Amino acid sequence: MTTPTIELKPSSHPLSDAEREAILTDPGFGRHFTDHMVTIKWTEGRGWHDAELVPYAPLSIDPANMTLHYAQEIFEGLKAYRRPDGSVVTFRPDANARRFQASARRLAMPELPVELFIGACDALVQQDKAWVPEHGGESSLYLRPFMIAAEVGLGVRPANEYLFIVIASPAGAYFPGGVEPVSIWLSEDRVRAVPGGMGDAKTGGNYAASLLAQAEAATHGCAQVAYLDAVEHRWVEELGGMNLYFVYEDHIVTPALTGSLLAGITRDSLLRLAEDLGHPSREGRISIEQWRADTESGALKEVFACGTAAVITPVGTVKTKDGEWEQSGGEPGEVTMKLRKALLDIQTGRAEDVHGWTHELG
Ligand SMILES: *Cc1c(COP(=O)(O)O)cnc(C)c1O
Repeated sequence: MTTPTIELKPSSHPLSDAEREAILTDPGFGRHFTDHMVTIKWTEGRGWHDAELVPYAPLSIDPANMTLHYAQEIFEGLKAYRRPDGSVVTFRPDANARRFQASARRLAMPELPVELFIGACDALVQQDKAWVPEHGGESSLYLRPFMIAAEVGLGVRPANEYLFIVIASPAGAYFPGGVEPVSIWLSEDRVRAVPGGMGDAKTGGNYAASLLAQAEAATHGCAQVAYLDAVEHRWVEELGGMNLYFVYEDHIVTPALTGSLLAGITRDSLLRLAEDLGHPSREGRISIEQWRADTESGALKEVFACGTAAVITPVGTVKTKDGEWEQSGGEPGEVTMKLRKALLDIQTGRAEDVHGWTHELG
């Protein structure tokens, strides 16, 4: 089966420059979408076909579409940034493409070739380049590739037809008023993923599993939930959509990939970037008892969360059912902010990219 090329069928009535500029002055997150999308179909026996860039539009879905009933769905998230010279780059799209393949394997879906994933993202960004915010600040064009089962029927088995789509949404700075620490609720009862489950796949099902704890966090005045392992309810895993890092005096540590947490690309980039900046970094295991004790003894200096959307978010207050404590006096930590700037500088083209992470549109 051959890899299809993406046929360009652009809109004859994209938004006017004035309308687009009005949106770009305050895009928020995930509220507005660009003029186009890329769609690619997969059918058993035929493989990937009908790859096209078309005007952004609603899908027509049969009520018995399998995704609606059994949640065979996976997604990705990556950003395109405008560099100082006006050119546009994406950050490590090959890593997203490979993770998308791993998620597909876990959900018994077909694997999209890496080149086709990157090609689809490139085609959309190229077509809707005017939607990539100006250089400066932290604004970007957020890309959301995803795949759903396209077969109709209520029989329970992997579908024999799929639809891959990429849409794009301009994103303003995550912290328009300056970086602010996030408050965290430590969920000791509810888990988001279990050993042997799909916690290491990027799938909507994991988010559905996390929403109730997220709502509980809000009743405790917290913005995010930290999940613990599902067996001992003791080992820190990650937030609902971000990985965690613990900053000690002489090293930084992030929870090891046990299979029930997601292998964040930001997490992976920071393991390497921290070393470049003189902070030995490693993967390890942190219990809630240790988290609290090391904060109280002063050994644990800072904690931060990381992911594509917010890049790096400092952790401020941590609440559990037995009490609460504050990280670094509730202020963004020094190492946290240094790493945040270093990563953003590479992503936005202000600093040299020695790792070859940024991808120019093909
Ligand atoms: C997407 C995601 C992350 C962050 O991954 P990045 O590649 O850094 O954006 C972390 N945890 C979960 C559950 C996620 O879905």
